[in-house]
Amino acid sequence: MSDTPLQVNCPTCGKPVIWNEQSTYRPFCSKRCQLIDLGEWADEEKRIPSSGDQSDSDEWSEEEK
Ligand SMILES: [Zn+2]
Repeated sequence: MSDTPLQVNCPTCGKPVIWNEQSTYRPFCSKRCQLIDLGEWADEEKRIPSSGDQSDSDEWSEEEK
């Protein structure tokens, strides 16, 4: 009945990860994804996300009239 393995999605890449003893880096799918989440990977690549969210949030200023 409860043979279904618990499965989660890797927070970094979204890849399904089986939650068991073999998944050393759970909830991450790999060490790489774990490092990415910790920021170490990003630091190594010097890949800084653009400061200031550039999402299109112009829509709700329209509603304020
Ligand atoms: Zn991953």
